[in-house]
Amino acid sequence: MSFVFLVFECAACGAWAQANPQLVMSIPARWHRTQYAADGNGNREPICESCARRLLDRFTREGLPIPEAVSRSDYFDRAYRDAADEGEL
Ligand SMILES: [Zn+2]
Repeated sequence: MSFVFLVFECAACGAWAQANPQLVMSIPARWHRTQYAADGNGNREPICESCARRLLDRFTREGLPIPEAVSRSDYFDRAYRDAADEGEL
């Protein structure tokens, strides 16, 4: 049995981070010269835990729809501290 962790550069702040590839939060962004820039037409790119928490705070404040998986109380533990089972990918 093997496990998969996604290691990536956060599309929002540029920090290196790791997460469960199935659960990581993402934003539409595009690589621009040396860093990602938010771009509504870009691919969904993963963001780190602290940026994901800020995004969730904003969604909560603005009353925007929050995906069911993200609204679970253990979401951040599962998304940013648990690896995905390779068999589930
Ligand atoms: Zn970040």
